[in-house]
Amino acid sequence: MEPIERAAAALAEARRIVVLTGAGVSTDSGIPDFRSPTGLWTRYDPRKLAYPRYVRDPAVRRLAWQLRRELHLLDARPNEAHAACVRLAERGRLAGVVTQNIDGLHTDAGLDPALVCEVHGTARYVVCLACGDRTTMASAIARLDGGEEDPACRRCGGILKADTVSFGQNLPPAVWARAVALAEGCDGFVAAGSSLVVYPVAELPLVARERGAPVVIINREPTPLDTAADAVCHGEVGTLLPTLVDALRA
Ligand code: NAD
Repeated sequence: MEPIERAAAALAEARRIVVLTGAGVSTDSGIPDFRSPTGLWTRYDPRKLAYPRYVRDPAVRRLAWQLRRELHLLDARPNEAHAACVRLAERGRLAGVVTQNIDGLHTDAGLDPALVCEVHGTARYVVCLACGDRTTMASAIARLDGGEEDPACRRCGGILKADTVSFGQNLPPAVWARAVALAEGCDGFVAAGSSLVVYPVAELPLVARERGAPVVIINREPTPLDTAADAVCHGEVGTLLPTLVDALRA
């Protein structure tokens, strides 16, 4: 039996599937991941932009904004893997997508925002670390384009930051609680396009497994959780996830 057939067989009875998506789901949309040979990690160490440094050092903030601008995240469009999640929802078999991604592409693809749990936040918005004012990333990028290198909050002058969870920041407790509840309540779990090395998110497949849900992993490279999964499909998520979802049509 091919791995993808094994995956479909493992999920055949599942009606409350949770899909955990990582940066690999968005590489086909032109957004580099962190850990691949062409990933962002090879160009800069995101730990250098960790939260305490960002707050302390204007040079770190200038670099972070420059990278935001270079990434053109706002221009990216969803791909086949995002569309596959929408089809799973349309068939009534998706309990939710827990995503490590901050690019907003699941909802751009048409997935109901109520079904998306963005555990690492969103780069579509920026927040003021002093007064909490939340504005769009598009407005911040426009200010960068206008020559500002470290735009400050227009309301109070405080430090602005993408509304994402950086290294050194905790996950928002309510969002994390929802992700755990989804993993605990699902009857099938698919981890797609994630190296499964970033904690605590990498615990979620094991949470699902402890509750008896079959676990499927789809990724280009092996992950540390492959041995704990019921089926492992190594290859392109943009092909494998749609194939899996289409096999679950019946
Ligand atoms: P990661 O970079 O650690 O792992 C991505 C995995 O996806 C790798 O194992 C890689 O082999 C695989 N992959 C890449 N393209 C693939 C493809 N087309 N098909 C199949 N597999 C593919 O990413 P992660 O596990 O999500 O953790 C990185 C952290 O960085 C996340 O927490 C996320 O917040 C952040 N991040 C987000 C984005 C985004 O929003 N798109 C991009 C980069 C990093």
